[in-house]
Amino acid sequence: MPPASLKTRARLSEVRYEIRGELARRARELEGQGRQLIKLNIGNPGAFGFRAPEHLQRAIAGRIADTDPYTHQQGLPAAREAIAAQHRLRGTPHVNPERVFVGNGVSELIDLSLRALLNPGDEVLLPSPDYPLWSASTILNDGRPVYYRCAPENGFLPDPDEIESLISPRTRAIVLINPNNPTGATYPRELLERVVAIAAKHHLLLMADEIYDSILYDGATFQPLAPLAGDVPCLSFGGLSKVHRACGWRVGWAVLSGDPLASGDFHHAMDLLGALRLCANVPGQFAIEAALHGEDTIAPLCAPGGRLYEARRAVIDSVAASEHLELVAPAGALYAFPAVTGAAAHGFDDHGFALELLESEDVLVVPGSSFNVPYRNHFRVTLLPQPDDLREVFARIERVLQRRAEA
Ligand code: PLP
Repeated sequence: MPPASLKTRARLSEVRYEIRGELARRARELEGQGRQLIKLNIGNPGAFGFRAPEHLQRAIAGRIADTDPYTHQQGLPAAREAIAAQHRLRGTPHVNPERVFVGNGVSELIDLSLRALLNPGDEVLLPSPDYPLWSASTILNDGRPVYYRCAPENGFLPDPDEIESLISPRTRAIVLINPNNPTGATYPRELLERVVAIAAKHHLLLMADEIYDSILYDGATFQPLAPLAGDVPCLSFGGLSKVHRACGWRVGWAVLSGDPLASGDFHHAMDLLGALRLCANVPGQFAIEAALHGEDTIAPLCAPGGRLYEARRAVIDSVAASEHLELVAPAGALYAFPAVTGAAAHGFDDHGFALELLESEDVLVVPGSSFNVPYRNHFRVTLLPQPDDLREVFARIERVLQRRAEA
């Protein structure tokens, strides 16, 4: 008799994270057979030759002997003070180190904060497309994602009227990802002010995923949400993974702002859940002060001549030269989210396309529907490869789309 197999959590069947899913597994198989792939599925700077700035590396190396003990569950006091100072400088009211939570990446804090907030059946307003961890964490904390559209025809910006129309008695929070993954959209101040007014009217928590806050191109600006939120409870997320190219250090933070009376027990819930997992990775925490007080090392990469700027340019130019693609140029973050159009789009299935691209052209992209959109004609690439590699990738994509257009 075969042994009885273990049952797993039923709601996992609703959860997808295709950035590291089936296609990535197939890519590893192909690599095992000796194929040379260009993998554009993960926004992982270190995998493309980017290094964390040296002053951050020194901040850890110099204190390695101090990193043995656990820290306070919310993080090292000096790190939390540096994060609070960054927010005070932005004009966020009601911020102090007591309201800062350092975690093992923003990923951990997204999950922890939704666990602190949600009761079974509670709803969270999420952008579509979203970064799929937001959907997964909502579902695994017994909530229900309700999607507001950030439609390509609207430059991937949300419509505040639509957000408000989706609010029900079960709605608990509005999530904004700005600058956005996967679209690269950045949100104007007036739009954010309207979302704040909606959250205030309906007593909702604002959750601002701002992990790409200073990755901006061509004069784009970043408006943080918390300074506009005033007394409205707002949890803002930032970290070292992207802006400081230190994904592997697993350092992120969440800052609670707004009137402390309005956030009720939420602070206590975050603190308790933080305590249960003891603390965040300590060596990484020693880099936070250096990151927030040190020189700006991301701006040169995003300016003309800089690696990310030129990579984005290569993508924009390749799409402009394509007969089959359209793109809302990303204003920020590390991705482009092109659409397949015209004859190549007939009967198009983004998964089938991504698989064909992988099998026949050795290129790995993420199908657009992985980001919880109802349409199936988009895909995401990261802007982290060398510009020439991206030009090569788009030449191969064009070959596949041309074949499909002619079929
Ligand atoms: N939020 C967004 C929008 C992301 O794109 C990512 C990673 O790609 C994360 C959060 C998680 O980042 P980390 O856990 O490395 O801080």
